[in-house]
Amino acid sequence: APGGNVRVVVRVRGFLPRETARGAECLIEMNPNNQATTLLVPNDSDPANSRSKTRKIIEEKAFTFDNSFWSHDKKDEHYAHQEDVYNCLGEEFLDHNFEGYHTCIFAYGQTGSGKSYTMMGTPDEPGLIPRTCEDLFQRIEAAHNETPNISYNVRVSYFEVYNEHVRDLLVPVNPNQPPYYLKIRESPTEGPYIKDLTDAPVKNISEIMRHMKIGDASRTTASTKMNDTSSRSHSVFTIMLKQIHHDMDTDETTERMARIRLVDLAGSERAKATEATGARLREGSNINKSLTTLGRVIAALADPKQQRPGKRNKDVVPYRDSILTWLLKDSLGGNSKTAMIACIAPSDYDETLSTLRYADQAKRIRTRAIVNQDHVS
Ligand code: ADP
Ligand code: MG
Repeated sequence: APGGNVRVVVRVRGFLPRETARGAECLIEMNPNNQATTLLVPNDSDPANSRSKTRKIIEEKAFTFDNSFWSHDKKDEHYAHQEDVYNCLGEEFLDHNFEGYHTCIFAYGQTGSGKSYTMMGTPDEPGLIPRTCEDLFQRIEAAHNETPNISYNVRVSYFEVYNEHVRDLLVPVNPNQPPYYLKIRESPTEGPYIKDLTDAPVKNISEIMRHMKIGDASRTTASTKMNDTSSRSHSVFTIMLKQIHHDMDTDETTERMARIRLVDLAGSERAKATEATGARLREGSNINKSLTTLGRVIAALADPKQQRPGKRNKDVVPYRDSILTWLLKDSLGGNSKTAMIACIAPSDYDETLSTLRYADQAKRIRTRAIVNQDHVS
């Protein structure tokens, strides 16, 4: 049967200046031979981890993921650069897209753990999104000579989910007007979609990069104005790749459609803040319904046995309970090859343990990806 498990990888970043300043120790060990990640018990001197010690008995915890990316110490021979993460994960997923599969890569983790660095990166150290765009157009250009009977059509969209509202990141922000939110509709064939979302055709690498930068700037602007919304919002960068194949002998035309989704989730500490304080918090507070629902969706998909007997998965998984899970339904438990990158800080026992447990659960999710191909004539 077609289907595969969600691929789960973990990446630990180096110390930030504030961590070095407080004399933080690295609590993460990764074994380059078997990809095991171990979370160590913090020592008593680190004030940032002292609370976890007073609250509960803590112990060393070991996990195994599909890949463990060691990005803690640049001098280490096993240091995982942006390029290594791309070569190990992004490139393979792009191969699948050219085969006609939908893919989705999520970055999960607490604020400051390296999600945006991994997905978007910096101008000097580009992450998965710009590397995917670049590789995509390099492949298309190479194919022009090698397989002239295939033509390509690429479109891009970029939106964020903030406080259960969808904002189009490709529409310039008007500082004199309130933010403009889009509505979600459902089509019987395509499932849920965002009405009027910009879906820009792009012909080359510079056009797609321009859209990526406009969207990213729009995210940053809103974030600076509204007290770090980026830690509370989910951003979804989507590339639609259409390959039109014309068979000269039979005069038949087939289309392959692949959707490439790259998702930078809200800081995972937000889900816990919600749990801890209950549903009484009002708007503008820490409530992040999409993130807590994502947790419930993952739990339901990971352990279908726990669901009510006689009911099928699709009836019980609470996709519809939040905007993000509804929109990404296909990527979570349906027609997609999906990966999760669990990003972790090097010296934060509680948050890291919760991220690693979340990722461990995600390993059990299976999706059913199919090649999206149609005969058009
Ligand atoms: P998040 O998006 O999860 O809140 P960021 O990606 O913004 O976190 O990362 C927080 C800080 O750590 C940023 O200054 C970022 O540049 C830096 N950083 C994260 N991961 C790495 C890494 N692997 N190598 C170097 N710097 C990193
Ligand atoms: Mg970020």
